[in-house]
Amino acid sequence: MKPIVLRLIAFFVLTSAFAFNAAIAHGKNVAGPNGGRLITAVSPHAEFFVTAERKVQITFVGEDGKALAPAGQIVVVTAGERTAPTKLTFKEVGGVLLSDQTLPEGKNFPAVVQIKATPEAKAIAARFNVNLSICSGCSKAEYACTCGH
Ligand SMILES: [Zn+2]
Repeated sequence: MKPIVLRLIAFFVLTSAFAFNAAIAHGKNVAGPNGGRLITAVSPHAEFFVTAERKVQITFVGEDGKALAPAGQIVVVTAGERTAPTKLTFKEVGGVLLSDQTLPEGKNFPAVVQIKATPEAKAIAARFNVNLSICSGCSKAEYACTCGH
C-alpha cells in the first residue's frame, strides 16, 4: 500500500479510538470526596454536592483526591428551568464554597456550573442535570452516579 493510505488508516484508527474513550468518559462520573459529582473540566477539580438544606457545596479536590481550600475561585450556579432559573452565588465556609441560596424545587432540573480560577479568568462551564433521585446501582444521587446505571 502507498504510505498515504497507511497514514489515512492510522488516522481513522486513532480518531475512532479517541471517540470511543470519550464516550466512556461521558457515561461514568468520578466520585468526589463527599459523594458528589466531580467536575474535571477545571483544575483543581471541583466537587458539586447538594447538602441536606438543598444548598450547593463546592469542594476543590487535589490530584490525591483530598480536599483543597478554595484559592479565590469564583463559582456561579444557574439551576432550574430556562424560563425561570435560580442563580446561586457562593461564600467560603470551612474550607469549601457554600451557596448563599438554595436550589429550586423539584428532583430533576438542568444546571450550569461556571467556575473562574480568578476574577479575571475565563469561566469554565459544566452543564448537567441535577437529578436527586437515588440510583439503584450505586446508591448515590443520580447527578453523582458513578456506575453509569
Ligand atoms: Zn449509579
